[in-house]
Amino acid sequence: MSRFWSPKVHELTPYVPGEQPREQLIKLNTNENPYSPAPGVGSVLREFRTDHLRLYPDPGSQELREALASNLGVDTDQVFVGNGSDEVLAFAFQAFFCHPQALQMPEISYSFYPVYCNLYGITRRAFPLDAQWRVDLDAFTKDAGGVIFANPNAPSGHGHARKDVQALLERVRDAVVLIDEAYVDFGGESSVPLIADHPNLLVTGTFSKSRSLAGIRLGYAVGSRELIEGLERVKNSINSYPVDSLCSAVGIAALEDEDHFDACRTAVITTRERTRQRLEQLGFDVLPSQTNFLLASHPKQDAAQLFVGLRERGILVRHFNTEALNNWLRISIGTDNEMDSLIETLESLSA
Ligand code: PMP
Repeated sequence: MSRFWSPKVHELTPYVPGEQPREQLIKLNTNENPYSPAPGVGSVLREFRTDHLRLYPDPGSQELREALASNLGVDTDQVFVGNGSDEVLAFAFQAFFCHPQALQMPEISYSFYPVYCNLYGITRRAFPLDAQWRVDLDAFTKDAGGVIFANPNAPSGHGHARKDVQALLERVRDAVVLIDEAYVDFGGESSVPLIADHPNLLVTGTFSKSRSLAGIRLGYAVGSRELIEGLERVKNSINSYPVDSLCSAVGIAALEDEDHFDACRTAVITTRERTRQRLEQLGFDVLPSQTNFLLASHPKQDAAQLFVGLRERGILVRHFNTEALNNWLRISIGTDNEMDSLIETLESLSA
């Protein structure tokens, strides 16, 4: 607490990101991709003209947005880019959710959403997941101030089919429905094709997971021109240049290599299913996942203790200290070798 802080700052409960350890650990705690970005990214970095950094980047990120638009099958003016999807989400909360009516979301979803509600003074109405740990789309009401959820959801891993999202959009027409597709490339079904018929649908995505670029900070939103203009207005009232020139060039190079993209995500999916089987053989309950992580719980072993035991043996996973998730571990999918080490270590911990 400080007398110099604005009153609001005293009331904030900031998001706590997963640990980025200094020591060499098998890092399965922040859903990064275990594989390198596309080789073209390396070429861009090696060949980038340093002198170019004297200049401000293009405030409209035109080339990057064109590349994304062609990749996603939409027009360039339907794409917005920002410094990680966390920033894009922050802009969206300001642009669309600052209403007297509550923003509706699942009780268990990305823990940044309540943080933004608190920061921007947005009332939140949270609904429990259904009995299978799926987002209960039927719970959202048409008088919502907005709706937000991750699809596939985090950290529960389940993804709804596009037709389910469409049914929601038929009902909620007067508020923005924001679908966070951070994990969609690992087996989810994207809602981007629904944008054409639903001007209130905003879909966000990130280069941090399936494009192996968490370090560069690049995220985006796709939606109707009306929504994109709302985001631009907020962006241009905060920071006109959220995406720097190096980041844009890297993003374009990543989008150009579909083969690399497909190879990496297929490898992650294969390793995920192999890991699931092995965790189940060890007695874990593992939720179905269309993401690059698994949520697992053991009926006889305490998750917090497992987290500590793994950490002491050089493996970092994520444990959320909340009532609902207290006995679960969220395990990001690494390479086959990393997952073998995880399984062997879990075996030794239970012996
Ligand atoms: N949405 C979800 C559901 C996430 O798990 C994350 C990663 N923590 C993000 C958005 C943010 O991703 P980034 O800011 O790296 O694009």
